[in-house]
Amino acid sequence: MKNFDYKKSLGQNFLIDKNIINKISESINPNNYDLIIEIGPGSGALTKELIKKNCDVICFEIDERLKEKLSVLECSNLKIVFKDFLNVNLNEYIDYTKYKNIYFVGNLPYYITTAIINKIVTESKPYEIVIMIQKEVADRFNAKPCTKQYGSLSVFLQYNFDIEKVCNVSKNCFEPIPKVDSTVLKLKTNKKYDVKDEDKFYKLIKDAFRQKRKNLRNNLNNYDLEKIKNILSEFNKDLTCRAEELKVGEFAQISNEL
Ligand code: SAH
Repeated sequence: MKNFDYKKSLGQNFLIDKNIINKISESINPNNYDLIIEIGPGSGALTKELIKKNCDVICFEIDERLKEKLSVLECSNLKIVFKDFLNVNLNEYIDYTKYKNIYFVGNLPYYITTAIINKIVTESKPYEIVIMIQKEVADRFNAKPCTKQYGSLSVFLQYNFDIEKVCNVSKNCFEPIPKVDSTVLKLKTNKKYDVKDEDKFYKLIKDAFRQKRKNLRNNLNNYDLEKIKNILSEFNKDLTCRAEELKVGEFAQISNEL
């Protein structure tokens, strides 16, 4: 975009590669009665494709300097809200009686990715989230137990979603060019494990990974260790193992039985 002072602090790297824009757009297949929520439309490169899908589209953009640029997209199924996505009350915008499936899509500043996903999961009922993230972070999302990347974020996401890669995106596909390559992931809501109390489950995984190099006995010393020991023995494990050795389903079972 000519004469635009890109703000690094807002993660302003706009997609300019048509092929990638199409790939992201084609990965979202809503019906007329669905809703797409785009976070950070920027100059509207992706928005332009999304509004062709004949369902309602709501965009949240924090930077009012983009008002003029985005105004050319004006159409009956598009609503652009100039607010910080992290501060909006999603329930004010999503009419669950009107829409069936809610799709979220965003190419975001990487440092708020987790906060955004957390917000989406706790404040709404996403059907799919298509999200562009730093390549290394994508590896953490999908990490398997007993690997260095596996952490509470991996467990949180794999509990909530099936995770698919849409495409890799070279840093050259952006203007201005960022330092790192990216990956687009699709998170499809699919809770495969039965968890009785999600808050309790989320707290357990956070605590279990609190200090990555410590074992469960240390990280979970505020819990009923005797009970945990018994549950672990069902998986042929004990309190000397580390959180990174536990599968998502095993965390679910511990949380349910505690
Ligand atoms: N989707 C566009 C722009 C990506 S750049 C593209 O792919 O080309 C990231 C965008 O997110 C910028 O437009 C930035 O202003 C916006 N943004 C950053 N933080 C935000 C927040 N908290 N809420 C809403 N938008 C945000």
